[in-house]
Amino acid sequence: MPAGCRKAAGRYHTGIEPMHELTICESLFKMVEQEQQTRHFTKVCRVRLEIGRFSCLDPEALRYAFDILGRETMLEGAKLEIDQPPGDAICLDCGAAVAVDTRLSDCPACGGKRLRPTGGDQMRFIEMEVR
Ligand SMILES: [Zn+2]
Repeated sequence: MPAGCRKAAGRYHTGIEPMHELTICESLFKMVEQEQQTRHFTKVCRVRLEIGRFSCLDPEALRYAFDILGRETMLEGAKLEIDQPPGDAICLDCGAAVAVDTRLSDCPACGGKRLRPTGGDQMRFIEMEVR
C-alpha cells in the first residue's frame, strides 16, 4: 500500500475513523456545486468517476459516502458509476509496459515480480448527467 494510504473498508461501520473516501466525496460535491452555479441545474442524475486500480480508494466506501452526503441535496438518488481501469507499470525484468490489476501482480509478459507502477492511482471526474 502506498505511503499515506490506509484501508477504509469496513471502518465506516464503527463511525470512529474518518475515512478518506468521505473527504474525496466532499470535494466532489463542492465541484458539483460550483458547476451548478454556472449551469443552473436542479438535479444530478448520474456521476461517473474513474478510479485507477492502483488507487487506495475503496469504491464501496466511496459509494457509501456518496449516499450519505447526497441526502437532501441535488445529488440525492444520483447514480454513481465508477470505472476502474487497470494500472500501468513497467517490468524491471523484461522492460515491457504492462497493464495489471494490482500493484502486486506479476508481469503478464515474463512472469517477473518487479513491476514499477507508472500510472493508475488517479481519481478523475469523467462526466455527469443533470437536469
Ligand atoms: Zn516482464
